[in-house]
Amino acid sequence: MPARIAINGYGTIGKRVADAVGLQDDMRLVGVAKTKPNFEAKLAIRKGYPLFALNKEASAKFAKAGLEVEGTLDDLVKDADLVVDCTPEESGYKSVYEKAGVKAIWQGGEEHSLTNLSFNAAANYAECVGAPFVRVPSCNTTGLIRTLFPLDAHFGVAKALAVMVRRATDPGDSKKGPINAIEPELEMPSHHGPDVQSVLPGLNIHTIAVKVPTTIMHLHTLSVDLKRTAEVSQILDLWKRFPRIAFVSGADGVQSTAQIMELARDLSRNRSDLYEIAVWQDGVHVVDGNHLFYFQAVHQESDVVPENVDAIRALLELEKDGRRSMEKTDRSLGIGIAR
Ligand code: NAD
Repeated sequence: MPARIAINGYGTIGKRVADAVGLQDDMRLVGVAKTKPNFEAKLAIRKGYPLFALNKEASAKFAKAGLEVEGTLDDLVKDADLVVDCTPEESGYKSVYEKAGVKAIWQGGEEHSLTNLSFNAAANYAECVGAPFVRVPSCNTTGLIRTLFPLDAHFGVAKALAVMVRRATDPGDSKKGPINAIEPELEMPSHHGPDVQSVLPGLNIHTIAVKVPTTIMHLHTLSVDLKRTAEVSQILDLWKRFPRIAFVSGADGVQSTAQIMELARDLSRNRSDLYEIAVWQDGVHVVDGNHLFYFQAVHQESDVVPENVDAIRALLELEKDGRRSMEKTDRSLGIGIAR
């Protein structure tokens, strides 16, 4: 029997996780819970996803808009083995899930302390097998872990500095900015460094962030002191063994995040999502044997989606081997074809 998965919060991340769950043969979507009867609710119904209103008050709004719902969040969680919570940060549903006795996965807007367990499939799948609750860290943190974990495991990371140029908001949002300014994050280190350490506790990392007027991707500039010397070719060969890292090249005309997203559109995946972290292979440099520099771009709307699918498998013990879960997820989403 496929595992029964519910999604609470059907926005940027929730709708992508819903679609990804629908592609797996060992899990099925039992419903999505929404607050408002907007276009996304209408499209969810059109896709055949059972739609639930958050509560009685929201149900009345759906009825007024002529949209039929199957019940409320309380009804949905009763029918689920696991809830993927994709609501905005601190929405506060932990007690609801505990009361219903369902497992749950939260997203990176939440603090690590909510679950005391944060997930990355390549780095710590085994630690999360059978856990009741886990958090998938943010898009930026996931992106940093994707390339730093292999480096630390194979060459040792003495010290890493990541300067992150962050997108202002997502493409579907017209409320946030900046639209004509560059905004430094004055807190130091930015929250991303400690967040990476929630999965890789021993990693010596500092992070600096600035927000810029773009919506399509984040860009990270990394400076990493390795414990052992390494050639660029060895680093590329190592990353090539991790399918959620894709390579792009300035020599091929990929000079900015604009061309990366054009490449993603040309791949014709669902929503043109790029689940992989894109590393410029001709932007990887080693100086004095062990000082590594590289650039990577993160499609913030989608890199956490395969991680959520693997986290479901880990928590529900549908697959105890992380590598096998990742391969299954990646096949279903077409990951790997960008290499
Ligand atoms: P979003 O605003 O696009 O979607 C949130 C959804 O939850 C919306 O449908 C909204 O109507 C609904 N909602 C709002 N308040 C709610 C409540 N109290 N109860 C239930 N539902 C409610 O947000 P998002 O970007 O999908 O972010 C969700 C989570 O994922 C956050 O923790 C965020 O930090 C994290 N995240 C976002 C991104 C990104 O780039 N957008 C990337 C990685 C992780």
